Amino acid sequence: MADQSNTKDSLDERGTEKNAASESSQKTVAEKKEYQIDIFRDWCKSCGICTAFCPRGCIELDDSGSPFVKDQASCSGCGWCEVHCPDFAISVRQKFLQATQAKLD
Ligand code: SF4
Ligand code: SF4
Repeated sequence: MADQSNTKDSLDERGTEKNAASESSQKTVAEKKEYQIDIFRDWCKSCGICTAFCPRGCIELDDSGSPFVKDQASCSGCGWCEVHCPDFAISVRQKFLQATQAKLD
């Protein structure tokens, strides 16, 4: 009888560990959001405001003064570039799969 109790305790512990590991994994997926940065060339007048406001250096100006996405992976989705662009020429959106996963969590 004591052996059965030990087995049950052991299974309970394993179940708890498994649940903790699963929650940890879900948190990692939910916290790891990725963003898509799109610059609409036809509307952009190369003023450089987006590069000046980005706190993570995701956007830089090329040799001709036009903005380009240098480091999309570092984007926090803060939206500063988007709200400060006077020509509505830049868009930042959370990538679809990550958004869906976060909702499921
Ligand atoms: S959303 Fe924020 S972090 Fe991302 S590119 Fe724009 S200013 Fe930079
Ligand atoms: S703020 Fe807008 S118009 Fe100015 S460089 Fe950036 S995307 Fe182009």
